[in-house]
Amino acid sequence: MRTPEDVDRFMRTHLSFSTTGTFGGQTSCVQICSDERSLVLDMGTGLRTLGSELMARNPQRAPMHVDILLSHPHWDHIAGFPFFAPLTSPSTTVTIHACHDTIEAALRRQHGDPSFPVPFDQIAADVSFARLEPGRTTEIGGFAVTPMRQHHEGDSFAYRIDDGTRTLVYATDTEFPDGTPGEAEEAAAFFADADMVVFDAMYTLAEAATDRRRFGHASNVQGADICMRAGARRLCLFHHDPRRRDDELQRLLDQTRRYVALQGADDTLEVIAAHDGLDYVLTDGVVTPPRACTEPAAGFARC
Ligand SMILES: [Zn+2]
Ligand SMILES: [Zn+2]
Repeated sequence: MRTPEDVDRFMRTHLSFSTTGTFGGQTSCVQICSDERSLVLDMGTGLRTLGSELMARNPQRAPMHVDILLSHPHWDHIAGFPFFAPLTSPSTTVTIHACHDTIEAALRRQHGDPSFPVPFDQIAADVSFARLEPGRTTEIGGFAVTPMRQHHEGDSFAYRIDDGTRTLVYATDTEFPDGTPGEAEEAAAFFADADMVVFDAMYTLAEAATDRRRFGHASNVQGADICMRAGARRLCLFHHDPRRRDDELQRLLDQTRRYVALQGADDTLEVIAAHDGLDYVLTDGVVTPPRACTEPAAGFARC
């Protein structure tokens, strides 16, 4: 190895992700982009870094509109909202789309004294709320968006998002508490032929079936089984358990790939694990190299 590029290539091809980088610790926030269109999924702590990037790309403060889909108002999915830099610009408009009718109240409470110094009504940007109906497809920002109710305390909603050529399913904070075929069948129908499923793989199958049963989260194996049944092409393990170290998350990813291979599906279902700053191009499967531990993180989330 003679050059830094040689070193990078060696690290990417010979070492595990957890040896060369970190999965990070941001909570749920994903941006999907297609041509000029984009949607943000959830407002966890990753939203702060995304906001900084959006502002850096818009130094003239041209009018900016941001559509956000919210799975549910649990704290790890809204904690980034007060720190979303575009909210400081009066030329920004934000629409938060959700199936819950409690979102505005949750955000106002989060912005209220003594939790945050800027009251919700003093946000410079124009923030509005739009209600979605489970099972009904709505056009949002040029995407066709269909929600589905999931098992989770207070309900959570998955989204099937189609840009006309590709389909991504975002299904986090979901549980299959009874382990019945019907539960998995309903999810498989919703995931059918998706190009990618971003799935709540917080637990192992054993954890989800025993001491973490009814904790509101699913497992890596459940995600793999449903994706194989659905004919989905990629499974992204998401909403990692914050208890896990990087090497444990790497093992979970390796075990999931091994499980898929044992089912004979490794040539039809690719499995990846989300990490902070992951940038994935659905058309060619390009994944950004691992991020060094000291670099700032953004986007995809641990929790
Ligand atoms: Zn939750
Ligand atoms: Zn969550």
